[in-house]
Amino acid sequence: MKDLALVVVDMLYDFIDGSMACQEADKALRNSLKYIEEETSLTDPDDSGIRSIFPILFVRDSHPANHCSFHEQGGPWPPHCVQDTHGADIHETLAPYAAEDLCFYKGQNPALEQYSGFEGLNPAGQSLSEVLHLMEVKNVLVCGIATEYCVRNTAEDLLKDGFHVYVLKDCLAYVDAEGHTTALAEMEQEGIRLI
Ligand SMILES: [Zn+2]
Repeated sequence: MKDLALVVVDMLYDFIDGSMACQEADKALRNSLKYIEEETSLTDPDDSGIRSIFPILFVRDSHPANHCSFHEQGGPWPPHCVQDTHGADIHETLAPYAAEDLCFYKGQNPALEQYSGFEGLNPAGQSLSEVLHLMEVKNVLVCGIATEYCVRNTAEDLLKDGFHVYVLKDCLAYVDAEGHTTALAEMEQEGIRLI
């Protein structure tokens, strides 16, 4: 597949083993890493820097402590991914692949819930859509957490923006098993491919 990029959604400690630990998070993490390592192993072994043959972009939930999605503010979730806490960090196994300019932070406004990576911005103020178009990407692979929320919203926004979207179905974790299955079936009907 040419013109390819991988979008990794919310592979952050709070969603893996923290306040919002999701089902199958370990498997999602392990399989994502395996997938990325297989690709990076195709690059020059003498090259000291870690580099994959396609860009890897990271979507990161990043909330102020008083975010509207938290229970204390009447929201649906326990506090999670609070800025500058361990829970908001990318898992250490994936962190070496994360370039800061390819990290897109969402949920930074205390008053806004943002499930889609399209609503996030990198430190330079660019959106995921903007950067993917600048890279002339056509095909986007998506993995991460959680299937029913941030993965789904990100994948749907990618599709609406004209990308071919492929969700790596063995590289997902979820809040609810039934919700995960339903979300996958609906995404497939919309034209998102599961691989
Ligand atoms: Zn959140």
